[in-house]
Amino acid sequence: MSLTDAAKQPCYYDSVALNITSRCNLRCLHCYNGSGENLRRDMDRATLLQAADAVLSLKPFNICLCGGEPLCCPDLLLLLEHLQGRVPQISMVTNGFALDEAWARRLAAYGVRAVQVSLDGAYAWQHDSLRGTAGSFERAIKAICALKTAGIAQVVCAILPNRLNVDSLEEYVQLCLSLGVDIIRAMPFLPSGRGRSMGRPLMLDEEGYFRFRRELWRLSERYGNQIRIEWDDPLQVILGMPGRMGTNEKEPMLEIRADGQLALTSYLPILMGDCTADGAMGNLRSAFAAARSVPQVRDYVCAIHNVYDWDLLDPLPYGEESIQLDLLEGTT
Ligand code: SF4
Repeated sequence: MSLTDAAKQPCYYDSVALNITSRCNLRCLHCYNGSGENLRRDMDRATLLQAADAVLSLKPFNICLCGGEPLCCPDLLLLLEHLQGRVPQISMVTNGFALDEAWARRLAAYGVRAVQVSLDGAYAWQHDSLRGTAGSFERAIKAICALKTAGIAQVVCAILPNRLNVDSLEEYVQLCLSLGVDIIRAMPFLPSGRGRSMGRPLMLDEEGYFRFRRELWRLSERYGNQIRIEWDDPLQVILGMPGRMGTNEKEPMLEIRADGQLALTSYLPILMGDCTADGAMGNLRSAFAAARSVPQVRDYVCAIHNVYDWDLLDPLPYGEESIQLDLLEGTT
């Protein structure tokens, strides 16, 4: 199928995140899913391609390759070859640490349209402190330049507002402008994974978030004709979930985890089963509606009103336990 044919397919989902590995070459203090640990859970090559087929069966407009760090997945190129031309858009989220010019050219050649690079401040000390690795800021900047040179259509810089960078947002916008970045995407700090165990002291309090959002709004007004500035808050998706319960309305944010588990959202421990199990593919779409009518899921989701509620959830997101629903196996 050509890319043009793929683009003509009816799309049932805007975007599906496929976590292709839980490995990572960094150990960021805030990592909400604790990447770099639990390596034994990654899918093998054949299972990863099966998971990709499961995602394709959902007919998303965009498949986002996430992780962990996608460049740490030994099967990344094979996967890109498998996906090329079969979905209207492929995107990727990366820390940029290993993304050199050769990688940027490969991604462009495989039709990756959008790449989000994490850049957590205007200054190296802000980024490197959060990312736990000296030199990671410089490597991220080089990755952004390489992606622009390779002609990637949309280069996005993601920033996590925190106590280190919150007072230099305008400098951050100016740095992104000087690099030719297309979009700045700010995302909130979620206290799960290492974000709960290690990064928590850097999380903004409610007043800090209010000031941050106000500043982001001011900067969007001031620089909006030169660069798109977005606030991408998973909370909005979660807060909208009770309204979708009992309906067949699609979820805007689906995820397949690095071990093949289909998750109701990226950030909560609500798992619907192994997407590569026998018969699972025929049940993927109905699983979302079914999951939302489970009383335990409803109670769990309805307990969330802001990011500080993460601490009160039982089970904790990316803790030892999850809400495991077996909704995918059993039919062919
Ligand atoms: S936040 Fe991203 S780069 Fe950092 S450890 Fe997690 S997956 Fe790796």
